[in-house]
Order: sequence, then structure tokens, then C-alpha cells
Amino acid sequence: MWIGIDDTDSLKGGCTTYVATEIIAEMPYDLIKFPRLVRLNPNIPWKTRGNGAIALCIGIGGGKRKKIGEIDGKPVYLYSYKKEEADLKEVKKIVMEVIEKNYMEEADPAFVISKKKLPYWIYKKAVKGIVEKEEVEKELKEAYYHYYKQGRGIIGASAAIAWKPKDKTYELLTYGEEKWIDKESVIKMDKTCKSTFNNYDYENDYIAILPKANSPVFYGIRGDDWKELIKAKKMLKASKEERWLIFETNQATDEHLQKKKIKDIKPYESVIVKGIVKKEPKDIPGGHVVFSIYDGNEIDCTAYEPTKQFRNIIRQLRQGDEVVVYGGVREKPFTINLEKIEIKKLADVYEKVENPICKKCGKHMKSIGKGKGYRCINCGIKAKEAEAKYVKVERKIKPGFYEVPVIAMRHLTKPLKRMGIIKN
Ligand SMILES: [Zn+2]
Repeated sequence: MWIGIDDTDSLKGGCTTYVATEIIAEMPYDLIKFPRLVRLNPNIPWKTRGNGAIALCIGIGGGKRKKIGEIDGKPVYLYSYKKEEADLKEVKKIVMEVIEKNYMEEADPAFVISKKKLPYWIYKKAVKGIVEKEEVEKELKEAYYHYYKQGRGIIGASAAIAWKPKDKTYELLTYGEEKWIDKESVIKMDKTCKSTFNNYDYENDYIAILPKANSPVFYGIRGDDWKELIKAKKMLKASKEERWLIFETNQATDEHLQKKKIKDIKPYESVIVKGIVKKEPKDIPGGHVVFSIYDGNEIDCTAYEPTKQFRNIIRQLRQGDEVVVYGGVREKPFTINLEKIEIKKLADVYEKVENPICKKCGKHMKSIGKGKGYRCINCGIKAKEAEAKYVKVERKIKPGFYEVPVIAMRHLTKPLKRMGIIKN
């Protein structure tokens, strides 16, 4: 039996994953699959935080069991198969009680309970675009669902159940009141546990396993191998957590992205677009850097201030460079919020070092205007633009992939480390 939950948190705190641990603690059933933390479209304007939903698959477990967490001193096990189905009435009652006890005032919580897996399109559309509540409700005829306010949360709750983990990662989340952590131990863990990622931002001296916002989460370690996450946790010198639990997630998979031509790009999508740099990068107020790309149509791309050092790469782009950009599409201004870029080919860039010399009097000619050529002020003789002396500029960047620093990395963005592009 699947339980999907969304939207119990708000800007002020709370966390839907914490609600999952509460349900597990209260539930007289076993986990048949890893708890899921499923991130959905990060560009939806009414979602201001991580936009994550959770799902649990429960029943009476059989076969081998593995320990994947601990809640208030009690181990949490994952079983290899389901011996018996859970009782719907009982599950419903527990889920309802836990949500009502835990959700934040500003949240719009909802849950879905389904014996069947839900169709994959719900997930696919919810991670890449915008889903309407009504279209999801049509798929829930055989399921039980409940919401407390507008009920937009049933979209995320259903999407978390509908997700098929093709590419997936894990996150070990810990919870607790006391939140002391030793930075050096985080760095050591990062260097030792090779299948983990986004632990520490070396460029910005930032511990990335700590939550950005006020949250019951103490820290979260992300990685490709769930067993190594347990080893990573043991390496940290930190306050003793009250709970820990490993979630299977779609984080760091790039599943929000879709390849698009510029003319087909719509706001709130996340896209991969190939183009040629047209407008050269320019700093705008707020510390953002904007340029445009062209593929027959043109669109702006922005490296926002929070992307820090990444902007230094972007500033070096020149007209004619061939690039592939990755990012979310903002509506106002209509621009691609860059997460990653691949520089395919650098254009040859020439810099004028000398104006043409007049053949008659030997003096340097003066420019008539940008792109209009030159004229000798003594003799009136004209020369073309190309007659000036140019030298080829040495480009300091190299073709290849560049990503935002860990501090600015979005949950769904696949780090270059996971893409096998950088190894550390
Ligand atoms: Zn002259």
C-alpha cells in the first residue's frame, strides 16, 4: 500500500520528511520499499522551498530485512517483500492524525493512499511542468485521498507514488534539537566517501549537508550508495541525532530538464538548449550576469548572484561561442536561470590593436563610427574595418562542462561528479 504526502511544510519551517518519520513511528506496519523523497518542478512560482513530496510503501514485510534508520532509539527496517497488505482504515487514521499534528499553518497538506502504483505521467509532468489538480484526481478513482485546504498537495503526493526510480540517489536525513557539527569531520567524510556528493563547498567554505532554512532536519548526506551513507554518518563529529532515515530520491538526476528549441521554451520549465552566444555577458544590478543565445530564435540566460564563482565563467563567453545551457525558465524576466553550461566550441575572438595607416600621409586613420570604417583626417582617404590591425585574443576558458558551486546547487541538478565528468 502506498502513502503519498505533500505540502506539510511552509516557509517558517517543518519538513515533510519529518512527517514521514512520524508516520513510520506510529504505524504497526513495515516498509516494503525505501521511503521516497521526490523533488518536483523547482520553478513553480507558488512553491518557495524545495518542492519535495514523500511516499511510503508499507505492509507486513517478509524475507530479509536491512536497517535503514532509527527513530527515537528504535531501528527502522526495510523488508525484501510484502507478505500481507496493510489495513486501509487503520493506515488512514494514523496518517490523518500525524498530519494534523504536524503541519504548519501556511501549508496546504494532502495525502493519497493507494493499493496500486499510480501512472508514471503524473510524476513526469509534475517534475518537468505544471499539473492541474483535476487531471490527477481522475487517476485517483480507486485510491483514497484527503486534503485540508486547496488540495494542490495531492499532485505532489500522487507524483511521489508514481515515480519510477530509473536514475536515483539516496539521502540520509537526521533530525534533532541539538545541532552542533564539526566542519573538519564533514570535509574528511567528503574526501573519504566517494559515492557521496554536495557535502561541502570548498570554494565558499559552506557546509552543504546542513539545511538552508529553519527545519527539524539536522543534516542530510546525499549519495549513490545507501550503505556508504551510514558509514559517512559515522564519520561525522556532531551532536547525537534523535532520528535518522535513508530516503530514495530523484535528487541529482536532472529529471526536471528537457531538451528544447528556443521557440518552444515556456516559463516554469527546466530546459537544455543548444545555441550560439549572441549578446555578450553583461553585469546587471544585483550581481547577476546576463547573455543571450541564438538558434534561429534568441533567449536570455542569467547566472544569478547566488551562483557566485560560476559567474566568472559566464563573463568570459563571447559572441559566436557554441554552448549548451541547462536551467529553469523564469517568466519575468523571461530568462534561463543557469544551473550548468557546456561550452562546446569557443569562437575565435580578435581584438583591434591599431587603426589602419593612411597610404598617402602615413598617419593613423580615425574611426568614422562603430562598424563604419576609417578616414584619414588629413587626406580624407577612407579604409574598411578589416584594414585595421587585429590580433587573436587568447581565451582563458576551455571547452567543457561548468556547474554552479555546491552552495547554489538545486536539489534536482545532477552534479558533474555524478555525470562522471569530474572525479574527486
Ligand atoms: Zn592621410
